[in-house]
Amino acid sequence: MEPAGMEPAGLGTGTEGTEPAGTGTGTEGIEPAGMGTEAMEPAGLEPAGLGTAGIEPAGMGANGIEPTGLEPAGLGIAEKEPAGLEPAEMEPAREAEEPPGSPALPAEAPQDGPPAAALSGEGALPGRERERGRRGAGAPGSAGRAARGRARRAPGRRSGAESVRRAGVTVDSSKAKTSLEALKISLRQLRWKEFPFGRRLPCDIYWHGVSFHDSNIFSGQVNKFPGMTETVRKITLSRAMRTMQDLFPLEYNFYPRSWILPEELPLFVAEVRMMKDSNPSWKPTFIVKPDGGCQGDGIYLIKDPSDIRLTGSIQSRPAVVQEYICKPLLMDKLKFDIRLYVLLKSLEPLEIYIAKDGLSRFCTEPYQEPTLKNLQQVFMHLTNYSLNIHSGNFIHSDSANTGSKRTFSSILCRLSSRGADVKKLWSDIISLVIKTIIALTPELKVYYQSDIPAGKPGPTCFQILGFDILLMKDLKPMLLEVNANPSMRIEHEQELSPGVFEHVPSPVDEKVKVAVIRDTLRLMDPQKKKRKDTQCQSSEQAPGASEEPPDAAPGPEAALPSLFLKQVFPKYARHFSYLRLVDRVAALFIRFLGVKGTTKLGPTGFRTFIRNCKLSNSNFSMAAVDILYIDITRRWNSMGIDHKESSNPGMCLQAFVEAFFCLAQKKYKALPLHKQVLSLIELCECRLAAVHGKRLVWGCGLAEPRRALPAAGTAPGPGCTGPPQPHGHRVLRLQKSSQLRALMCRDRTGS
Ligand code: ADP
Repeated sequence: MEPAGMEPAGLGTGTEGTEPAGTGTGTEGIEPAGMGTEAMEPAGLEPAGLGTAGIEPAGMGANGIEPTGLEPAGLGIAEKEPAGLEPAEMEPAREAEEPPGSPALPAEAPQDGPPAAALSGEGALPGRERERGRRGAGAPGSAGRAARGRARRAPGRRSGAESVRRAGVTVDSSKAKTSLEALKISLRQLRWKEFPFGRRLPCDIYWHGVSFHDSNIFSGQVNKFPGMTETVRKITLSRAMRTMQDLFPLEYNFYPRSWILPEELPLFVAEVRMMKDSNPSWKPTFIVKPDGGCQGDGIYLIKDPSDIRLTGSIQSRPAVVQEYICKPLLMDKLKFDIRLYVLLKSLEPLEIYIAKDGLSRFCTEPYQEPTLKNLQQVFMHLTNYSLNIHSGNFIHSDSANTGSKRTFSSILCRLSSRGADVKKLWSDIISLVIKTIIALTPELKVYYQSDIPAGKPGPTCFQILGFDILLMKDLKPMLLEVNANPSMRIEHEQELSPGVFEHVPSPVDEKVKVAVIRDTLRLMDPQKKKRKDTQCQSSEQAPGASEEPPDAAPGPEAALPSLFLKQVFPKYARHFSYLRLVDRVAALFIRFLGVKGTTKLGPTGFRTFIRNCKLSNSNFSMAAVDILYIDITRRWNSMGIDHKESSNPGMCLQAFVEAFFCLAQKKYKALPLHKQVLSLIELCECRLAAVHGKRLVWGCGLAEPRRALPAAGTAPGPGCTGPPQPHGHRVLRLQKSSQLRALMCRDRTGS
């Protein structure tokens, strides 16, 4: 995780990076069949073949999702670029054809492209004229089109699209912090207008280096979501993943089994004992990570729960203890992880993009499976750049495929040259990213409605997230963590002599990060939308007028490479929508929050929810409802979670989700958990729709009670027709931890 708002003291640079050196035993993390470790990489092979990797989803099926119709079949390994070709020399593919992992794109757009003035809109006419001349001469048919375009327009009047372009996109970079350099390069490439010291008038885009905290932005777009930092903290992320693992254990098996300390210490001890008893040959290792920690700070490995360092720190600094992945994929005998950049473009509707390339950060000591002797060797077990930079073995390299920090595409290229199924790997990664974001969105929506209530002026948000992923020996990607504030530095520190550091440009960082920022901006371009709207209007007014004015200068797009970010959601929504149950529980929660600006539900709100959904009956009285509320709320509030409203004694979303699951288990005993929850959601949605319908009838004397519509992408369930019929056999929950939790829940609801 990146430090929130602060730079690593002294080590500052791109928090990613790491690298190997030397050789060693490395007998453990044996490479997947057919792709040995050493000698894997033909010298001088550039990541040209990366296009290869970028293929899609054969592997979607691996998660029980239909692999059909997912992607351009033709993009397979066969289409990889000839080795030795520099990515920059490749012709940019059309976006629709370009899967993640495609050749890394040139970080800098040609500076001698279309005239800056024409693009920024300032003093545009001369440039436009020059451009018109060029086009008229070069492009067949364009002169004629230009003449027609001129003839259509009244003299002195500009087309809507043209006047929109003239305004220029404005970006406030005054709070960009360490992402400033990459942002500046991106803005230069886009020829957008930067306001480095802020601006009295509103800007189109506000670029913040740390988190969403400005309450004085009322319009435009901000590159941070409210509550994102809190939502991806180690403990909160682990809780969200746990909830999803309880619902969909197989789909969410890409996140290591985790426990939250100190509150789940007894559960951790009990479960480990149970698992050891049932499988005596299991010799696990665990990794303890302080909540809110970053850059490997405070992390240590243990072999047994009794080794947890309880002395003070755990109480004052909660942590996550997690199963340690003992058999990672190695390269050059070294452990490495992947930093992938993901753009959450919109929360409602959900829109997710993945960067086509990322970074790989390497350890600096040859890897060995953990033993009591090597547990403390951080250069062997932790891939953090900030740690490994202090190793004498750390290698800075300007090449994308050597050194302690490389592009992910260079890794894929090596894997592919060994026959690995990189297409499936990409597909698994896409699936991991979408599922993780689905786990995070409920909490984010609660923060969002609180900070930017609907109907009030406020910005819209987007955010670049850093996904840290570890590949297992069998190429299965495992999520380590999500960074709300991934380092966007494009330089690294080099130690000239002990303690003396110098900042030097890092081409590997620049290549990836500038492309990520620039293309995020391109996707968020407010003028694109305006242009589209204007074109729609003018095409309604005058058929045929919707085309780009023929004599207008080409947009900045013309000078830029194809997009570095690829949409994965809603593109693959149909494969994942069934997972969005907690989202629907969160929608119920938000509906009953009442007071705008709050993130916690009061006892009255909870009672109203129960009443409106008609969930109480002779077996579950309103007194029992109150007890459930008090019991769960008190426990969640005693956990000392770093929450926006820590002093508010109400029920947070996670507590509501727990209460909801309890009610679902109570009501639909015979079903597996996800079906219990789905049934209750549908029942609630349906009954609320009926209440809403009645209100309309009373209010206007018209409408009939409405039937609830299933949320997009969800299968119709029992809904108003009453609870589903039990299947006649009891479906056993797989996870022992879930059983324990269910027991606790049963105690609380008295069922
Ligand atoms: P931080 O935010 O401090 O960087 P991380 O969760 O990223 O914390 O962990 C730091 C490093 O520890 C990771 O980069 C990875 O190398 C290693 N690591 C973390 N969790 C695991 C795990 N479950 N199994 C194996 N290695 C892990």
